[in-house]
Amino acid sequence: MACTAIVGINWGDEGKGRMVDLLTESFDVVVRFQGGTNAGHKVINENGCFTLHLLPSGVCRKGVMNVLGNGVALDPEKLVEEIEDLQGKGISISPDNLMISERASLLLPWHRELDALEEARLKDMKFGSTKRGIAPFYSDKHQKKTVMAGELFYPDAIRKHLEGLREWKNLILSVYGAEPVKEEEVEAWLNDSCEKIKPYIRDVRSYLREAQDDDKRILFEAQLGALRDLDYGSYPYTTSSNVLAAYAPIGSGLPGAQIDHIIGVVKAYSSCLGEGPFVCEMQGKEAERLRELGGEFSEKDGHPYRVGPIDLVATRYGVQVQTATEIALTKLDILGALEQIPVCVKYRLDGQEIDEMPFPAALPKCEPVIEYMPGWKCDISDVRNWWDLPEEAKDYVNRIERSVGRVVRWISVGPERHSIIRRG
Ligand code: GDP
Repeated sequence: MACTAIVGINWGDEGKGRMVDLLTESFDVVVRFQGGTNAGHKVINENGCFTLHLLPSGVCRKGVMNVLGNGVALDPEKLVEEIEDLQGKGISISPDNLMISERASLLLPWHRELDALEEARLKDMKFGSTKRGIAPFYSDKHQKKTVMAGELFYPDAIRKHLEGLREWKNLILSVYGAEPVKEEEVEAWLNDSCEKIKPYIRDVRSYLREAQDDDKRILFEAQLGALRDLDYGSYPYTTSSNVLAAYAPIGSGLPGAQIDHIIGVVKAYSSCLGEGPFVCEMQGKEAERLRELGGEFSEKDGHPYRVGPIDLVATRYGVQVQTATEIALTKLDILGALEQIPVCVKYRLDGQEIDEMPFPAALPKCEPVIEYMPGWKCDISDVRNWWDLPEEAKDYVNRIERSVGRVVRWISVGPERHSIIRRG
């Protein structure tokens, strides 16, 4: 397991955080390689219950080095809030267990506002952005209009750099009719949150190279899922970064690294936060029941998430583009209350049944082909052994396995660290 990635196969919220938290027992280093302070990875362990937005999910394990790679959208303000929140809950976070790549670009004081302004302008056409500034951040990064964390060690140069960016950004803010960002706001940001993150900033590339030479085991942790990948997801209803395992070496600081194991996290049913095509979406009472059972509501404001049965077309595609070598299936316990388990086995497009993911523009025309499998109708959350699972649950897992062509190596039956069945 020298180099392993844990990645999402669906639309995100598959339970990657709980898998990283569990598997870090076998790793020395956990690296986040993309994404920003999104809705968060939830982990429950002996230290308590935590929602990790930007911090890698290894922070709760003693002896693990957590790395924020150059591919993340590094929001100093939100990161400081998150560090202080976890420290307040008794988790030790210091440069001994957290480092930030000097090449990570910074999410600047105007990115969150620009995100909100653009979503408001789009009205009904909005993308369902989490308004954390992630889309404006990545577009600016690619336009070379932000700064890298390491520039904080060059105070005069970074001030000059930021002054030019602020001037340019104020032109754009004025187009939206918004207030310009003042120099004092940038100065306060530099003197407060940026000062606080400086002790963590390092040359991550050298650290990871040495870690590799010392045979340390490295785990790459992704955010969101394959259907939200910028290049391979349901564009434009994607995130603004690459969530695929193939990007992990680049976004981490080990370009060209060989990843031996890619663990694809698949949820036992589907959920989708945000807008865009979601072919297997359920409506009405069936959806309400599944949503209640799975607790598919926003923690922030109780907003209901979209839900559906497992989508074998999308899951197979996710496994392919992630090049997953094995599967972790999560939330199987949730389906224990259902008489019958719906499965989206194919799509119907222009009167024809298809089992390959079509081009994104064809997705709104697709309808799900649903089959029902018998439910196991009991609580499996205490099961820890494959052979103790009801036959119907085993059949369900085996069907997923056959459909995606990969072994389901872990089956999660509860949110707690040890609510897991390991196979083989
Ligand atoms: P991530 O972003 O992929 O890490 O996923 P989230 O943390 O956003 O969402 C997964 C949610 O499901 C969290 O609330 C987890 O605590 C919960 N969860 C994860 N695995 C299981 C499971 O096997 N059973 C149950 N009941 N809940 C789970």
